[in-house]
Parts: sequence; C-alpha cells; structure tokens
Amino acid sequence: MGEQAVEDIAENPIEKPGANTAHRVLYDGQCEICQGCVSWLKALDRENKTICLPISVEVLSAVDSRLQMDECLRQLHVVTPTSEIHVGWDAVACLARLFPSTWLIGALGQRFPFRSAGRFFYGFVAKNRYSLSKCRGGACRVAKPEAVRRKAKLGAFWSCYTLGFFIRVPLVLWAGIKAAGQRANIFARTYHKRLDLPNGKLTILFLNGMLPNTVPLLFGELFTAIIYDGIAIDPGSPKMRWSLARHLRQVKPKITKVVATHAHEEHVGNLNWLAEVTGAPVYVSEMTARFLTPFKRLPWVRATIIGQPPDLKQPYHLLGETIDTESGYLQVIETPGHCDDHIALYDPKEKVLLAGDAFMGSYFATPNPDVDSRKWLVSLERLMELDIEILVEGHGHIHTLRTDIPDFPGVVIREDPKVAISQKLAYMRWLREQIEAGFQEGLPVRVIEASCFPWGRRTSWESCATDECIRLLSLGHFSRTELVRSFVRTDGEQLPTVYEVRISGGE
Ligand SMILES: [Zn+2]
Repeated sequence: MGEQAVEDIAENPIEKPGANTAHRVLYDGQCEICQGCVSWLKALDRENKTICLPISVEVLSAVDSRLQMDECLRQLHVVTPTSEIHVGWDAVACLARLFPSTWLIGALGQRFPFRSAGRFFYGFVAKNRYSLSKCRGGACRVAKPEAVRRKAKLGAFWSCYTLGFFIRVPLVLWAGIKAAGQRANIFARTYHKRLDLPNGKLTILFLNGMLPNTVPLLFGELFTAIIYDGIAIDPGSPKMRWSLARHLRQVKPKITKVVATHAHEEHVGNLNWLAEVTGAPVYVSEMTARFLTPFKRLPWVRATIIGQPPDLKQPYHLLGETIDTESGYLQVIETPGHCDDHIALYDPKEKVLLAGDAFMGSYFATPNPDVDSRKWLVSLERLMELDIEILVEGHGHIHTLRTDIPDFPGVVIREDPKVAISQKLAYMRWLREQIEAGFQEGLPVRVIEASCFPWGRRTSWESCATDECIRLLSLGHFSRTELVRSFVRTDGEQLPTVYEVRISGGE
C-alpha cells in the first residue's frame, strides 16, 4: 500500500500546461516534512505559480538534465521558468517571494544576516529530517516500499504521521473554519427554499426543523424531499413535517405516489403522513418494508435530532422493476452499500438519476455503521452503466452540466455526473486496496485508518476538522473508523470478530 499516497500533490511535469511558465519544485515524496511544506505551498499558491514534483529519475530528466538525484534528495531544488536552479534555503526564499503573504520572508531571506541564519536552520532540518520522519505505510511513497515495510516500526509511522499533522495544524483549522462558513452560507440560502427545475418535472423541497437544522450546519447534509413527475420521494422525518406541510401549501403539487429510497430516519418518517394528506399510495422495496415494520429503536442522538420514525402502516405497495410516473416511468435500481435496502430511481427518457444516498459526493469519509463499502462499489459500477445527465443526491446536491438547470451555488454542482461517480469509484477502490493491504500486513486498525488519510492527500487535512467534529458529535456513530470497518463487513454480523478484538484491544 501507499503507492498512490502522494498522487494528490504530485503533478506531471510534461502534461501539465504552463510547465515552462511555473516554478518547478522538486521535493522528496518520502519525507513527511517535505510533504507538509508542499501542502503549505499549495494552500498559498492560488494562481498555480508552482508545480510540485516528487523526485524520481524520470521526473528529474524531464525537468532539467542538470539535476542530480543525490543532490535533490539532500535538499530542495527549484527550477525557475528561466531555467535557473535554486537550492536549499535559497529555493525556499525564492518560493516565498512568489506570494504576497510570504514575500517579506523571501526578500529578507536573501540578505545578511537572515540568509546565513536561514541556511543554517535549513541545513539542520535537512540533515535531521529522516530521524524525525521515518515513515512507512500509506503516508509515504518510498523507493523500496517492501524493504521499508519489513524494517519500519509502528513508532516510526506514528511519529511521521503526527509530525505531518502538526506541520499542517494551522491549515487544518483554517480549512475547518472555512468549511463551517460555507455550510452556514448554504444552509441560509436553502432555508425553507425549493428548487423548481425548468421542465416542471423535478422539484426539490429543502426541509428544516429546529433540531434537524443542526445537521446541515455541522455536517453539511441538507434535508430534502423530492417530487419527480408526480412521485414524492423521501419525504423527511417527523421533525421536518411542519416544513414539508408548509411547502405543500405553497406548491400544491400533484402527488400520485409516495416512495422511499431506503429506511433511514430522515427519509421515511413522513411516508404514512404524506400518503394520508395526499391520498397517494406508499411504495417501498420489500427490504425497506421489513426494516420499517417495526422500525428499530434509533440511537438516542439520532432519535433526538432527526426523530424516531413511526412504523410503516398498511396498506403499502412493494416496488417492482419500474414505477409509473405522470408522463412515463422510473426504473428501480437496487443499490445496496449505503445500507442493504437502498434503491435508486432512474428516468431513461430524461436521463435523470435520483440517487438517494447511493451517491453522497465523491469524497465522503464518515459513513454510518450500516455501510458496506464493497457492496457500494458494485452499486456504483452499476450506476456507471447508465446514461446520466442530471444526478440528484438524497441530501440536496445536483450534479449536472445541463445549461437549462439554473445556477444555485452550493447545491447545483457543474460537473458531469458520470465523472463524479467515477471519481467516487476511484477513491473507494483506492481505499479498498489500502485496507486490504493493511490487513494482509497485519497492521492495527488505527494504523490502517491513518494510512487511508495520508496527509499528502489534500482532502485528508482539509476535511480533518469536520470529520473529527462529526465523530465527536455523533458519539462515534459516524467516523473515519467506520469507513475502514465498512470494507470488512460480512453478511449477518456487523463486524468480523478479529476486527472487534483489534478495535477494542488495539492489538
Ligand atoms: Zn441514508
């Protein structure tokens, strides 16, 4: 494992446009300190003035024939657009001068006595960096991964991983604050709002409620009910009922059927209620019906915030392979993974996929305990076979390139739905590789978890504060640990025994 760990910060010197107009930074992809500094560089570099390249024989010869492998491994090398080569502290000062916020450091760093002090300090860190960070596993890519794996102790891994974290702490906090601001912004703009899409077939109602509102604010998941061509889908929880009723009074939509994509509380709590007020029959899959009669008692955090749904009442209908809409039909596609009973709905005529929770963004690292990621992978592969122009998620986001869909920043994401799904697939396949390799090597679960979030991946530190908040606030219900566990579930039991032992005993 670990082969692709630095792919996020590594760039291709040849394919990258503007390779000759940017400063090329050659860093040691094995070194956590170098990787940490590259994260800072990327955060500073809004205008792509630099390209960061991990050192390898091919990269060096592609960038400049004067570069020597040994020299580059010893200290930082920067090749300017005019083919000047700066080395060590002078390279740091050269990079600092590129950005307004660090310009002064760079300018002073060239002058006595700061230049001598800088060179001395740089030399000290460069000489000792391997004793500070001897990394193994997912956080580093190494020249001889097998040899390192055999030799390296977990202490080295943790010292390296921790060091990588501390170098990025200000970035982690800043990214956390920024993400919280964005969540608040999107929440405010969707509060009691609805989104009517031009052809009138699709309406998204954003649902609110006193306690449910904490979820979009803290976690970024919006609550919605979808009305598609006469079918109401996932009409929210009892604590959002007032909000749903308010929408229905305003829109007065024609609803002929009520459908749930799966038996999670924020999707099914109003099924019977909506059927009663509209006279429309309820349709669910056979497994969802089973999960709803009776509905199991939720953990108290979820019951308090979202609300315990009532049991599903008769009469209801079971979903077949298709369900008729006002002007056509929707295919019912089994998509287990997010939970076992999940189904997605697809309109082949309009090329619309109502994915429910089968797609929750390309990067999603804090799943619920009933996620089975291996089943999810198969489901995503199935969705990749569809021709999709509009992808509607169960928590309010829409992915589409169609120009007839109006802009709604934070909700409508201008992205090819198939690209979004394939990115998610690639990410999950990489995770599966990391986790399976980790278990084969007999690594403790905590190490495997860390190796799934190497700091070289931007998302690892960008979402770190949010992910850990979610873990804390959900009392461990939704967490990065659950993501690892979601790849090793077997049918019938929640966790393999060896795993439970590892988690509780830490090996
Ligand atoms: Zn769900």
